[in-house]
Amino acid sequence: MGDTQKTVLIVGGGFAGIAAANELAGAFNVILVDPKTFFEYVPNTPHTFLSLASASRTLVDYPAGGVHKQGVVVGLTSDGTQGKATLQGGEVLDFHYALLASGSSYASAVKPGPTRMQARESRLLELYDTSLKIEAASSVLVVGGGSVGVELASLIKEAHPSKRVTLVCSGATLLDRMAPHAQRFAEQWMRQHGVEVLTGERISDWGGLGDGPPAAASLTTASGRRLEGDLVFKCVGARPATAAFAASLTAEQLGPAGSIAVEPTLQVVGWRNVFAAGDCSSVEEEKTAALAGLSALAAAANILALEAGSEPQAYPESLFGGLRPPLVGGTSLGAHSAVMQLGPSSVQTGSGPALMKKVLVWLYSRVAGGSRVWGLVYRQMQRAMVVLLTREARKLAANTAAAPAVLPATAT
Ligand SMILES: Cc1cc2nc3c(=O)[nH]c(=O)nc-3n(C[C@H](O)[C@H](O)[C@H](O)COP(=O)(O)OP(=O)(O)OC[C@H]3O[C@@H](n4cnc5c(N)ncnc54)[C@H](O)[C@@H]3O)c2cc1C
Repeated sequence: MGDTQKTVLIVGGGFAGIAAANELAGAFNVILVDPKTFFEYVPNTPHTFLSLASASRTLVDYPAGGVHKQGVVVGLTSDGTQGKATLQGGEVLDFHYALLASGSSYASAVKPGPTRMQARESRLLELYDTSLKIEAASSVLVVGGGSVGVELASLIKEAHPSKRVTLVCSGATLLDRMAPHAQRFAEQWMRQHGVEVLTGERISDWGGLGDGPPAAASLTTASGRRLEGDLVFKCVGARPATAAFAASLTAEQLGPAGSIAVEPTLQVVGWRNVFAAGDCSSVEEEKTAALAGLSALAAAANILALEAGSEPQAYPESLFGGLRPPLVGGTSLGAHSAVMQLGPSSVQTGSGPALMKKVLVWLYSRVAGGSRVWGLVYRQMQRAMVVLLTREARKLAANTAAAPAVLPATAT
């Protein structure tokens, strides 16, 4: 580490990693390690199965000559002021600060494997292969009533109305973490377009269907119902992607489901100079692209604070006026409709949010491709989102405080 600038190592080039890299470049020598040569705009991946043009927009090569270094981090150590990361293959990178932003892995190939060395062309072929499988299938079964399952089932049915598309979930309703208005809109869309929706059915036997690409399978639910599909997509179960380097963390540094245990300041437990943000951290929040970016900005601010000799601030309180942010998220219903929620009182449905989602893909692909101008525009949007979410969080807090207390039931 002979450079005059100190080094910040970022593990993972997703929404969190890119946000922190853009924020810290200039003040530090930033190295961003990711096994892929490209950024994938994961929220758009379900669209890519139905449109190769969309796939091409979704995968963006990291800028040549930038901070990206292809590799997989398999080990980490730190003495609190300096540390080392070991890459697969044995190379060792020294750092003064690190941000772990290794995200999450997903049960099906909806998301690329987190630690596979992969080039853009190879991922495009994978997406194309899935699109051919969808074309060939007469019946498609999607398991999972969250955002991913709902998007996928709706997009497939809209593009292939003659196929039998079934969406099965264990919850009582689709999109069960969103507002009732959003849930009703999604259910109505499915009814109108002929997607068969089965709620309250938990899969007890996956019929040999493993993690990885979708395949034909015959599943059984806990109620004994048999469900078959020429193609079955498992849209359940995001897990923190920490397995590659988990062996170098102590038991105290690992949180629920293998997440990275962090202090309120996003510092990894026991390591003052190492932070974690986004899907891989133990912070209890809706794991979304938007919050991955914002939490990484909070971690970046804390790295700058430590370097300036100041105290790091607690997340998310430091961003959202001392409050926790309410839910923010958007779900496509086919290619031209969507539901978008920004806090409890702001739910938009229809073509407006669908257009907004497309604009975000367009804009972020420029940010990931290294455009400084679009990077600044996106940063302004993040600031505006913080203002909106803070306002929604305040409303929520005020409503909760104003709600009449529920008296405990008296035994008779
Ligand atoms: C199909 C789908 C649809 C979604 N739709 C939405 C949506 O509409 N809106 C929304 O806000 N969110 C959505 N999400 C969630 C969103 O994609 C995630 O919350 C977001 O990607 C998290 O960003 P991240 O940077 O924390 O992690 P990731 O995006 O997972 O990025 C982590 C990166 O780290 C790399 N990495 C992993 N391990 C290592 C290692 N050991 N060494 C080096 N690099 C490593 C990976 O290759 C990856 O590039 C969706 C998720 C899925 C799967």
